[in-house]
Amino acid sequence: MRKLLQGILDFRKRVRPTVKGTFAQLAFGQKPDCILVVCSDSRVAVNVFASTEPGDMLVCRNAGNIIPPPRADGTSTGDLSEVAILEFGLERLNIPSIIVCGHSECGAIGALISGKPLPDAPHLTEWVKNASGALDPSRFVFHSQKTFAPQNLVSQRNVLLQLENLKRYPFIAKRIAEGKLRLYGWWFDIAEAEVYSWDEDAKSFLVLDEVRTARLISQLDTP
Ligand SMILES: [Zn+2]
Repeated sequence: MRKLLQGILDFRKRVRPTVKGTFAQLAFGQKPDCILVVCSDSRVAVNVFASTEPGDMLVCRNAGNIIPPPRADGTSTGDLSEVAILEFGLERLNIPSIIVCGHSECGAIGALISGKPLPDAPHLTEWVKNASGALDPSRFVFHSQKTFAPQNLVSQRNVLLQLENLKRYPFIAKRIAEGKLRLYGWWFDIAEAEVYSWDEDAKSFLVLDEVRTARLISQLDTP
């Protein structure tokens, strides 16, 4: 807390004068162009690795970057908050992209893999069951550019699982079918400070280097 409180003082002294105008504009409305579903982990600093600014993203953070799938009637099998954010972003803000971002050394995935009830964390025990489908190596088969630890492969499969869950919501599937929405799977390697993106053609998580980011940017201009 000490660092955060000191940080507010530093912000007021050094940064606030330069960004006050930006925030004053944003107070009239936001127009983010992506929804980011990302793990709550303190190390997954999207503002650092994606150089984001205020107003860039609508963020849904939870343990394990999980979107519980819908029931047959389209309502969430989890709690309401995740899908409420998605509804707000799509139906109110008309956001055209959703990114699911997992990461290496994920504690939620570790809890899932252990398979044991955590007496001191019963909610976490139940919550990570929403990612159980990622434990099955045959469910998502993909190539890797490098050797990842088994836990990190589960975390990568979990990104693909959550993308599947998203597509099962009728209001999301409809937007994808209408060409109004694209889904992306990202994965952040903490030790390497490197961001990977799921490539459907290559069936692989590939580093978001200059070539791949240029390709993704060019696709944004095509319907
Ligand atoms: Zn995590």
